[in-house]
Amino acid sequence: MPRGMVTIDKERCKGCGLCIAACPHQVLAYSGQLNRSGYNVVYAENPEACVGCAFCALTCPDVAIEVYREKITT
Ligand code: SF4
Ligand code: SF4
Repeated sequence: MPRGMVTIDKERCKGCGLCIAACPHQVLAYSGQLNRSGYNVVYAENPEACVGCAFCALTCPDVAIEVYREKITT
């Protein structure tokens, strides 16, 4: 499985939770932290489980998530 990493732009996040539901590996969760708009923002609770599939980023209506994949060299 390729390893991935996500970053979440807290100020873009509106706490809708769609990315949490979209992640097949339970990487994302609510942080309990409010951004400047008052939304409970998402963070990577289990970052080591991320495979870089980008389902979360494709689901986010506010383009708050960036996904990076580890480059596999053979
Ligand atoms: S890239 Fe895939 S595995 Fe990683 S947090 Fe997003 S949906 Fe989950
Ligand atoms: S889908 Fe986007 S806006 Fe919604 S909780 Fe996730 S990061 Fe925030």
